[in-house]
Amino acid sequence: MPSMALNDTPAPADITCPPCKSSLAGVGRDDLAAALTAAGVPAKHVRMRLSQLWSWIYAHGATSWDAMSDVSKELRARLAEAYSLQRPELVSEQVSVDGTRKWLLRLNRRGHDRRPPEIETVYIPEAARGTLCISSQVGCTLTCSFCHTGTQRLVRNLTAAEIVAQVQVARDDLGEWPTSLENRRLSNIVFMGMGEPLYNLDNVAAALDILSDNEGIAISRRRITVSTSGVVPELKALGERTGAMLAVSMHATRDELRDQLVPINRRYPIAELMAAIRAYPGLSNAKRVTFEYVMLKGVNDAPADAKALVKLIAGIPAKINLIPFNPWPGAPFQCSDPETIEAFAAIIRRAGYASPVRKPRGRDILAACGQLKSESEKLRASARRRATASAS
Ligand code: SAH
Ligand code: SF4
Repeated sequence: MPSMALNDTPAPADITCPPCKSSLAGVGRDDLAAALTAAGVPAKHVRMRLSQLWSWIYAHGATSWDAMSDVSKELRARLAEAYSLQRPELVSEQVSVDGTRKWLLRLNRRGHDRRPPEIETVYIPEAARGTLCISSQVGCTLTCSFCHTGTQRLVRNLTAAEIVAQVQVARDDLGEWPTSLENRRLSNIVFMGMGEPLYNLDNVAAALDILSDNEGIAISRRRITVSTSGVVPELKALGERTGAMLAVSMHATRDELRDQLVPINRRYPIAELMAAIRAYPGLSNAKRVTFEYVMLKGVNDAPADAKALVKLIAGIPAKINLIPFNPWPGAPFQCSDPETIEAFAAIIRRAGYASPVRKPRGRDILAACGQLKSESEKLRASARRRATASAS
């Protein structure tokens, strides 16, 4: 399918949002229970009502109170007076020639937001699974030198509801309501979009509770992977609180180089990172850590680097994911040659590790790792320039 153009609309003016009802799409059980209580449901009935609402919202994908046929009209009206079930605004959808989809979502303004923040979510269909790559922050505070998100300032953490809403929007579009446990198009989730999930662990953990809840979206924690650049002090808590699969953005085996590529390494150097990974709760052959390794031409792609990587992770139940560098305008790196990547992968395979080379997906719509948000920023700037030109 050809890719569709983004809506090239001017950025909304920086005005206060009209009074809008707060949305309960994406919120957890506690917030839903509080809404029911506020709507006058007696304490002894809250549990039962909560279970009905939960099923409508998270198993059936309801976007309006009207749909909830087993909830009384009076209660529906009271809920509708105070709350909506609105999703974030879908600004655009792009579909790559390879079937990858990218959604640009506009969130409501919160706290100090000067404008409604925008985030991107990417769906990658594969033969045996479909993976949704979601964002945990708007932008990122870290500045990994090969990552485009890292060149954009952090706007803010996403709330748990905003994290969950990315999955809801994807399932709306994929036509996956009500939840079926078989043949799902969206079967896996990776926190590999914008942001550092471990700098927003409370909301990431709350979102995982909602996404894995068996009475709702029911995606097993074993199918949810959280990728981190190496926020060592939070690794244990991630494992204990979420039971998620762990992916670590390794990218280098020497501190000197990793300091350059992944600057958080200056705070938590490789030895500390490896110790925290070895202690990750639940690590086993059935629950391996994924080491991500971006292939940068002439920087980290020599056979000696592959051998050093194998040595570094010895004894850890692991997979290694080689990611061809995805270029972006002005990036100071190039992707390694295919032969170099293959030689690197062969060394890792010989050492007994699965070493899939991640096929770049959705490159035509800038949906690949490390490219998120860039296009929308660019378009916004161009739209702004045009708006300014036509006003003068
Ligand atoms: N902040 C987290 C998760 C988001 S980044 C982290 O760093 O792990 C998801 C993955 O994309 C990381 O492994 C990151 O190193 C990788 N990545 C970033 N920019 C990239 C690029 N331009 N090409 C290939 N991979 C990239
Ligand atoms: Fe942030 Fe991850 Fe990009 Fe580094 S690679 S700048 S941690 S999003």
